[in-house]
Amino acid sequence: MEKRKQYDDKIILARREKHEIPKGFKGLVLCPICGASFYKKAWHHNLRNYKNLKENLEVKFLICPACRMIKNKQFEGEVKILNIPQNNLDNLIHLIEAFGHRAYLIDSQHRLINIKKVKDGLIVTTTENQLAVKIAKKIKEVFKKIDIKTSYSPSPSDVVYIKLEFRI
Ligand SMILES: [Zn+2]
Repeated sequence: MEKRKQYDDKIILARREKHEIPKGFKGLVLCPICGASFYKKAWHHNLRNYKNLKENLEVKFLICPACRMIKNKQFEGEVKILNIPQNNLDNLIHLIEAFGHRAYLIDSQHRLINIKKVKDGLIVTTTENQLAVKIAKKIKEVFKKIDIKTSYSPSPSDVVYIKLEFRI
């Protein structure tokens, strides 16, 4: 339990760092890792909808929350998938990757971090808890005979841990 607590504190810290952007900063904030830019109170993929590109615009580089989370080996959603029938494995991985890619296209901060093969299945991590919830629901919808168990870590952290188990 001690280890988990330490971990959650780190997550909370990472979330606070979102507010590192000084209030009233009129310049441009860019993530040096993924190139996302911050304007209109949110992180975007690019500058396409940024209307105030002036000359001499002040530019500030700041690692975006998703990149920071990945860099610090943190996550906000974890989906553990157990008992995967061998003949479903490739389709399952493909489904998760496609889902993660779509989520990223919609929001630069919603990312699939990793699909890790472990002895008894897969561990999928995401930068956003609702993305993990949606991936789990989608897997159940597609593969049907699956039990889902969801638990959130104690507030104020909102890391979600989901366990999916194929019923054989
Ligand atoms: Zn980034």
